[in-house]
Amino acid sequence: MPGPTTTPDSLTDDDLAALSAGFEDAEPSEVIAWAADTFGSDLCVAASMEDALLIDVTTRVAPGIDVVFVDTGFHFPETLATAERVRRRYPIELRIVRENDNRVTDLWKTDTDACCARHKVAPFESALGEYSAWMSGLRRSDSPERADAPIVTRDSRGLISIRPLANWDDATADAYIAANDVVLNPLLFDGYPSIGCGPCTQRVAPGDDPRSGRWAGSAKTECGLNL
Ligand code: SF4
Repeated sequence: MPGPTTTPDSLTDDDLAALSAGFEDAEPSEVIAWAADTFGSDLCVAASMEDALLIDVTTRVAPGIDVVFVDTGFHFPETLATAERVRRRYPIELRIVRENDNRVTDLWKTDTDACCARHKVAPFESALGEYSAWMSGLRRSDSPERADAPIVTRDSRGLISIRPLANWDDATADAYIAANDVVLNPLLFDGYPSIGCGPCTQRVAPGDDPRSGRWAGSAKTECGLNL
């Protein structure tokens, strides 16, 4: 990846709002091409290993890009296996980051916010320190909380957060996945339409909110990465 041509500080919030609005009718590949041209080697992809949809689209535009996956220590074995399949299949630099030293194995039982902050957000933010912009596979159709997500914005860390797939609905995503044989986590076919850590992800009945199995029974809906 070439070097960046700009920095987050050089983009005002008005610039970002205008960029985001301008991308409303753009293909994800156009958004990714802009991001790669603008941020170069300072750009990464954040991956949950639920599917490789964003990675598949991205590597057609920006092969060799860094992909950051946080291994919380609580993932399903299928998710870790998916990460290895993605590493073998796509032209990426897969970075698996962990909070090695202080893992509290039962924190999720008593305080899921603290557990996510410690085992997911902290290692992710540590990794993000090497970048000025990052892309995620967030889509507005994921949940009501994501329905108004901008395509380009500044996150709470001051980094540029880019969601090239924000406008893709499920039918569009499913059609791309089928046409391109995108790597998928097998748990998607086992009752888990949204996949997080094992202790905090339950199967969802057909037709229910796909994210209702995440932290089921609590008000928590996000781990904090997309804040
Ligand atoms: S999703 Fe659950 S197990 Fe994973 S980091 Fe958050 S609270 Fe901990």
